[in-house]
Amino acid sequence: LLAPDGSMTETIFAEMTALAARTGAINLGQGFPDEIGPAHVLEAARAAIAAGTNQYPPGRGTLELRSAVSEHQKRFYGLDVAPETEVLATAGATEALAATILALIEPGDEVLTFEPYYDAYGALISLAGGVHTTVPLPWPHFEPDLDLLERAVTDKTRIILVNDPHNPTGTVFSAATRELIVRLAEKHGATIVTDEVYEHLTFGVRHTPIATMPGAEGRTVTISSGGKTFNTTGWKIGWLTASSDLVDAILTVKQYLTYSNGAPLQPAIAAGLRSNDRFFHELGPDLDRKRRLLNDGLRAAGFDVADSAGTYFTVADAAALGFDDAVEFCRVLPERAGVIAVPISAFVMPQHASDYSSLVRFAFCKRTEVLEQAVTQLAGLR
Ligand code: PMP
Ligand code: GLN
Repeated sequence: LLAPDGSMTETIFAEMTALAARTGAINLGQGFPDEIGPAHVLEAARAAIAAGTNQYPPGRGTLELRSAVSEHQKRFYGLDVAPETEVLATAGATEALAATILALIEPGDEVLTFEPYYDAYGALISLAGGVHTTVPLPWPHFEPDLDLLERAVTDKTRIILVNDPHNPTGTVFSAATRELIVRLAEKHGATIVTDEVYEHLTFGVRHTPIATMPGAEGRTVTISSGGKTFNTTGWKIGWLTASSDLVDAILTVKQYLTYSNGAPLQPAIAAGLRSNDRFFHELGPDLDRKRRLLNDGLRAAGFDVADSAGTYFTVADAAALGFDDAVEFCRVLPERAGVIAVPISAFVMPQHASDYSSLVRFAFCKRTEVLEQAVTQLAGLR
């Protein structure tokens, strides 16, 4: 099942998590939190299971979850989204991405992403027979050059696939970048697909959905998921919001992927989306403390570190420590420091890997004592 372009090998996350299990190293590779989710969300799932909510939910998702998504979009972003027709529940953001790309492109159509990109994007574009084009996000600020962006979007571009806040770089896009994306989508008749799974995990900046920008309406599919916000990555409850014609097209594909999933987990994520302000306000600052702990430790160990503005991730340059090849560095890191990390080259096309060769992604969504231990071990690298 290997795609000729290498977009469909074993995922880097499976490989690195297996390496963590084998070596007992601290897993700062795969981005998943090691803390239990909020009690009211877990309790809502238990109650739903006990009440017998265990059969197929509707294909679009339960109206309760769709209503909670609609309320959430209004509460945080002032967006009006009709729960009946403009929301689709999905098996994680991953299924939302898969169904959207499969529904909206024909073989040969171009899908533009920023690069580095979340690994599933390359594989899904290739599954759909699309042509993947990219605009680079250069170290250390990872902001796109707007002239390059303008030149990358053409009449062949069917989808501009955005990920903001951005995995793996931790970048939050500027207003100028968002505005240009919308203007180019309008000019070339492209659909904007925006993956905002880290929408609540930002540090000192507020997330602005691209769907709120003038001109984005009617051409934007906004994707998110409960996994990151509620520490429930294994539940795979995601959703998308878009105009009803886009939702109908995506539903056509989605019904043959999973039809539906997670009956008792949908009301639990609905309860999560209705959490009080305090819950949401603490998410960023809590994670920011972890980010600082890891970044300070990485700097003390000799790395150059890019300051991420959102997500679970920090990017560090291992060249300062004498490692020019991050793939090799990540291979020896379990033995040298008892830590797992992921080379950024896993998120770029093979022909662009050399532009990112010494960069490494570390996840900081871990308990403080785990991060402290990791930092102590990394200090020995010098
Ligand atoms: N998009 C991005 C940018 C991600 O980082 C992830 C998961 N880590 C996903 C999508 C997948 O989300 P889910 O687990 O909800 O399918
Ligand atoms: N999104 C997570 C990450 O970037 C992992 C997702 C996965 O394991 N497929 O680390």
